[in-house]
Amino acid sequence: MDQWKFTPFLHTALKNLFSRPDTVAYPFKPAVYPDRMRGHVVIQIEDCISCGLCARSCPPGALRVDRAAGTWTISRFDCVQCGSCVNACPKKCLAIVPGYTTPDGEKHTETFTRPPKPDAAPAQPKPAAAPAQPKPAAAPEQAQ
Ligand code: SF4
Ligand code: SF4
Repeated sequence: MDQWKFTPFLHTALKNLFSRPDTVAYPFKPAVYPDRMRGHVVIQIEDCISCGLCARSCPPGALRVDRAAGTWTISRFDCVQCGSCVNACPKKCLAIVPGYTTPDGEKHTETFTRPPKPDAAPAQPKPAAAPAQPKPAAAPEQAQ
């Protein structure tokens, strides 16, 4: 009777013994991520207007926006890939793409700085004003 209790386990053990493993040989083989995987947040910093809506919508407080400095900072180790910042951004300059953050022994942040706009280039010095030309002397009035 007891032999019938072990039959299902024996069947599973034999099946696993001769089948391919379900796991991948990470880190020796790079992982293959599905297209819609929520891996990490990326920013198109040129389009950011430093409105700060992403930082306000971030549940764990992983984002910092400095309007004066034009910077956008993310703590990859605090981000939970919820996508709230992506939905909140009015300029659509945030996205979540496949690929996990590289593991590290310490928490660190990544800062992106908005490049200056071409039309905000420093003003060119104006050419020096030409010296005023002396007015021609008025012609003497003709006697009648
Ligand atoms: S994905 Fe979520 S947790 Fe990560 S930075 Fe955006 S709002 Fe914050
Ligand atoms: S919501 Fe978008 S535009 Fe606003 S600060 Fe964040 S990334 Fe920049």
